[in-house]
Amino acid sequence: MLLHVGTHPVTEVFYTMETALVVLLSASFLIWLASRFYLKNSKIAVINNFPNSWRELLEKHVCFYRKLGPEKKEKFEKRILTFLNQKEIIGKGTSVELLDRLLIASSAVIPLLGFSEWHYPMLEEIILLPESFSQHYDPNAPQHHLAGMVGTGELAGKMFLSRKALRSGFESFDERNVGLHEFLHLVDSADGRIDGIPQMLIQNRASIPWLRVVHEEMQKLSEGKSDFREYARSSQEEFLTVAGEYFFEKPEQLAQRHPVLYAVLREVFNQ
Ligand SMILES: [Zn+2]
Repeated sequence: MLLHVGTHPVTEVFYTMETALVVLLSASFLIWLASRFYLKNSKIAVINNFPNSWRELLEKHVCFYRKLGPEKKEKFEKRILTFLNQKEIIGKGTSVELLDRLLIASSAVIPLLGFSEWHYPMLEEIILLPESFSQHYDPNAPQHHLAGMVGTGELAGKMFLSRKALRSGFESFDERNVGLHEFLHLVDSADGRIDGIPQMLIQNRASIPWLRVVHEEMQKLSEGKSDFREYARSSQEEFLTVAGEYFFEKPEQLAQRHPVLYAVLREVFNQ
């Protein structure tokens, strides 16, 4: 009896603790489940209601968006939201405003708008720096001429962008857009190689004479017979990104001055 009296309260406490633990765990699970449900549904709600203030910013700052019809605008907006929900944008030495987020997301969405598969699985975060920076992402280093950077090794999964250059890329129409430029490098690298041949886009479409056109245009450039900016001459991969910037920023001019390349780029980007 003593033993029973002695053990009973302990057992009772044990059972009480066990019950409390079960209740706590169940409650935590339910809270977790509810938050998952809420988050999932809040994303859907956001996708269905693209904020008007965001739309106004796109209309004002993203010429490519402005020229789209209503259906494509809706597709563009949904992709902007998906991108911003998935990728982290971090400011280093600078704030990240809504406009910066929208310009970065637009740079990601524009090159692949013609495709149903359009994600950037290798990209994890975008690091925004105030101005141009050095190879080691230091804006104060003496050699700081970079406006954007992606790569492999320690750079894998990261994109560095100068905020100043990102903004001016969308404000001026000089066929330079660093946001587009860096995302075009990612499109190029999706097949495992940064080589100026976007296999992902041209696969199974043997009709696209991509390399022939690239080499013809690079030749013209070296003879001073092309209005492409000099940087396109540096390599096949830079040619792709510079041509892409031109194609998405000034399609009418490209069509007029480089009709063959324009036709090929339309096929490559399916736009
Ligand atoms: Zn480049």
